[in-house]
Amino acid sequence: MIIETINASKISNMNTPEKIECLIVGSGPAGYTAAIYAARADMKPIMYAGMQPGGQLTITTDVENYPGYPDGIMGPEMMEQFRKQAERFGTDVRYGMITSVDFSGKPPYKVIADENHEILAETVIIATGASAKWLGIPSEEKLNGRGVSACAVCDGFFFKCKDVAIVGAGDTACEEASYLAKICSKVYMIVRRDEFRASKAMQHRVLNTPNIEVLFNSVTDEILGESKVDGARIKNATTGEMRNIDVQGFFVAIGHKPNTDVFKDFLDMDETGYLLTVPGTSKTNIEGVFACGDAQDKVYRQAVTAAGSGCMAALDAERYLAAKHSPVA
Ligand code: NDP
Repeated sequence: MIIETINASKISNMNTPEKIECLIVGSGPAGYTAAIYAARADMKPIMYAGMQPGGQLTITTDVENYPGYPDGIMGPEMMEQFRKQAERFGTDVRYGMITSVDFSGKPPYKVIADENHEILAETVIIATGASAKWLGIPSEEKLNGRGVSACAVCDGFFFKCKDVAIVGAGDTACEEASYLAKICSKVYMIVRRDEFRASKAMQHRVLNTPNIEVLFNSVTDEILGESKVDGARIKNATTGEMRNIDVQGFFVAIGHKPNTDVFKDFLDMDETGYLLTVPGTSKTNIEGVFACGDAQDKVYRQAVTAAGSGCMAALDAERYLAAKHSPVA
């Protein structure tokens, strides 16, 4: 639906580099918010929306924690509205991928879209997001959005006073298990080894919460249910013994991977690929290149925080251009 309305045809002459003021890479809440601000600042932004325009929100159902939607909104519809708002102010939203970048030297930077279209961009705003890691079992895909979720803060509320399971043993899984334990009747935590990876403080919190039951040495054999989750079959990794648990929600918290591979030769990142920015700004280590949203945030990862950081990136880019073009610069 979104793909059809996005303009791929504007990319005409493949041999002539396209010179632009602002390139936005990625089309989640961060990218669209950056686009709204950049377009309103007359930077004539071009957005490459990726292969799945709208980002992670297009694979969620109801969004109930974004201010301004008192009755909630479906994730795909919300992203469609973001896109329309960005286009209303003149953002050129294109369906496609940035396949390589060259941030060496001074701007404008050479960026290649879809393998063969060359763009020379004065500023680049990176809003490529992060992808949740999944277990990779068929029932997980079948029931995604029907009880299976990778975000407890987003979807936990739908399982108020119900029993749920969460897979993972890192800080995210512990934090989300604690969050779920406040809302749900019971939380099964499925841990594949005989120990946590999380910090000691987070482990203690989980182990001291009465309605969290940790199943160590346990792997998910199958998530059960036809049209919605009604249980999970758990295998004891040591004995091979199977047991079914009755749960209505199934959360996967086994880490995220930021979508930043294409920038790895130029931008500073942490060991897992999250882009590093100057604290309190969206500035990367390269002048004129800014980062926002989940690509640079492994802590909060919310639509509203991503949108806020997209605004910061557009303002930083606008100020950078203004300073560069100022007669006293
Ligand atoms: P981590 O990579 O730290 O942990 C992932 C967990 O998932 C590990 O316990 C791992 O198991 C488990 N896992 C991976 N694959 C599978 C699988 N196929 N089946 C079952 N379990 C699996 O990711 P997090 O998202 O928890 O954290 C990412 C980073 O963010 C960390 O540095 C963390 O400290 C930080 N963070 C900090 C927070 C805070 O300070 N408040 C909050 C959240 C995150 P195993 O241990 O066996 O490898």
